[in-house]
Amino acid sequence: MTKPNIAPPPLRNDCFALPAGVNWTPVDDALALLRQRLTVVKGAETLRLEQATGRILAEDVISKRSNPPLPNTAVDGYGFAGAAPEGPQVMPLHPGRAAAGIPFDGTVPDGHALRVLTGAALPAGVDTVILEEDVTVQEDHIAFHGPLKQGANTRRAGEDVAEGDPVLPARRRLTPADLALLSATGLAEVPVRQTLRVAVLSTGDELVEPGEPAGPGQIFDANRPMLLSLIARMGFQPVDMGRVEDNRDALRARLNRAAEQADVILTSGGASAGDEDHVSALLRQAGAMQEWRIALKPGRPLALGMWDGTPVFGLPGNPVAAMVCTLIFTRPALGLMAGEGWQAPQGFDLPAAFEKRKKPGRREYLRARVRDGRAEVFASEGSGRISGLSWAEGLVEIEDGARHIKPGDMVRFIPYGSFGL
Ligand code: AMP
Ligand code: MG
Repeated sequence: MTKPNIAPPPLRNDCFALPAGVNWTPVDDALALLRQRLTVVKGAETLRLEQATGRILAEDVISKRSNPPLPNTAVDGYGFAGAAPEGPQVMPLHPGRAAAGIPFDGTVPDGHALRVLTGAALPAGVDTVILEEDVTVQEDHIAFHGPLKQGANTRRAGEDVAEGDPVLPARRRLTPADLALLSATGLAEVPVRQTLRVAVLSTGDELVEPGEPAGPGQIFDANRPMLLSLIARMGFQPVDMGRVEDNRDALRARLNRAAEQADVILTSGGASAGDEDHVSALLRQAGAMQEWRIALKPGRPLALGMWDGTPVFGLPGNPVAAMVCTLIFTRPALGLMAGEGWQAPQGFDLPAAFEKRKKPGRREYLRARVRDGRAEVFASEGSGRISGLSWAEGLVEIEDGARHIKPGDMVRFIPYGSFGL
């Protein structure tokens, strides 16, 4: 049954409201709120398999054909009926052979063997195969040593997947291996979500485009190239909305355009409560802004709001904080809106190669990498050190409470790859 392609209703204006009276929201509470409030915003389309890699299934997919479709031989050898007992065996060789795609039409008489090649459907009268390396062939007989179990070296029809079985569930992001599975089970096209479009916009009077002349006090826009490529790597469609100076009218116009062209807007800079923080000011004016003060380092307040029905993630301007906030908060939120469900990044515990004392009260993410089975962290925790982001291959996550980590103590490492990068 084909379903009509209807996008779900837009998110509500109050979807980022925070509980009253909480000063610093713990990371887990912030994640739970996002998970509870956000829903899928994209409709479905049908794509041929070769276009579907990296896309998200919109429905459960059911096998149209068993894999393997027929019982077949797993090896090159000789097929016959039933188990062979202990001891030397001699069998007459039946004329003909069965190969992959070229079945043997007749029936192999009981006590006779037929030449079979890997992948060939088992002919009538064959349910067991002896490996060719274990056989001597002389004139029109074969000889080998028993015992051999009935069914040896064969594959049952549907032993991998049976027709009508579930193959992959809705919300699955399709991998190359999934395409093999879908093909093998008779599926040529799949229902997938339309790709979530994510607008990226930089704000700040100090920013110039990489490659342009930069005056004193100016810096190159580092966030936009980073965020656009993060979005693409995570499997969403980046929409480059450029840079805007700290000017409310210009920013308003750009947000209007972004809301037309994308499903979600990411801004960086201008998200705090200062004079030049126009992202938060405009969202507040629109009556749909929440300042999320999350207890994490590195981080600054996130401005979460709705602009013309489109969710806006107002990220901190500092590139280190912008990337960490994107990985920890924005990525699972985008996944939910895109239809892949809530994807928590998978980390693992391994010994630290460093020492660190941490005070209680907030969660910390350190720029880290693994060498010789131990987690190393970047020499400086300075949040302006973009070189550390680039040096790192993931994050060490340190829980909210106090901790004194000594070399060899176990720490949680989350590779960048676990965030879909
Ligand atoms: P803001 O959040 O606008 O107060 O910015 C915080 C810090 O991040 C300031 O030092 C900004 O200059 C810097 N910053 C803001 N946007 C960017 C950007 N796109 N690339 C590099 N640095 C930025
Ligand atoms: Mg700024």
